[in-house]
Amino acid sequence: MATGKAFLLQLKIKNIDSRQQSVIVSILLLVLHMLSNQPEFQKLLLLHSRDRRQQKLKNDLEQNPLEQKRIQKQIDLEKESVALALSEWKELEAKNNALENEIISATEKISRLKHQQLEVKKNEEYTALENEIATTGSSQSLLEDEQLEILMKIDDARKIAEIAEDKISLKIEDLEKTLFSCQEHSKVLTTDISKLEDEIKTARGEVEPSIIRSYERTKTVISKPPYVAPVVDQKCSGCNLRVSNDVVSSILVERKLTQCDQCGRIVYVER
Ligand SMILES: [Zn+2]
Repeated sequence: MATGKAFLLQLKIKNIDSRQQSVIVSILLLVLHMLSNQPEFQKLLLLHSRDRRQQKLKNDLEQNPLEQKRIQKQIDLEKESVALALSEWKELEAKNNALENEIISATEKISRLKHQQLEVKKNEEYTALENEIATTGSSQSLLEDEQLEILMKIDDARKIAEIAEDKISLKIEDLEKTLFSCQEHSKVLTTDISKLEDEIKTARGEVEPSIIRSYERTKTVISKPPYVAPVVDQKCSGCNLRVSNDVVSSILVERKLTQCDQCGRIVYVER
């Protein structure tokens, strides 16, 4: 069989454009035995999929404390809003009590003044007491107006506090359940990661050392998985860029372990 380069050289000689080359490459996909079907490569794909799964679980485990913190913060906020509603209600109740005391002492003062009035002899003293009674009476009436307003506010505040206690308590209960499952999930993740560690060791032992070396090298160069990616429509599905004809021919014709000439990932063709 001709090598890939010779094969592509032939394509150029015959003046075939890139679209036609792609068509020919697609036909090649159907007729050639692919590297991806070779047992050695299948073992690499198995190792890669376990590696990726473990990485995903490790990421989830890393995110788990942040998620727990986020839920805890929400719980604290909800609790704060209940406490705030309750303290607003209590504050109004305290204000009402203070007003009530002021009103009582005004009433007492008026009755004391009226009593004094009965005992005074001079007209001026009587009038002075009369004026004081009137002043105390009008400030008492102002206090009563203020109390009425406070009582209406207390009504609203009590309703809000009751709703906050009922509904928000349920919400907090739900959040606490979510927090608990998040904590439990963290334990499951830790167990699964260590189980996968053993499976990865087994899978790695099965792969040919030279393939492992290329794979490890690729992992150090590529920051984000996948490290092994299929080529689809002559595009590397890892970086989404078009690979050269040389790459395609290396996979299909030379059937070598090939890297994407754009991103460096190991590429293969699925049947
Ligand atoms: Zn690529």
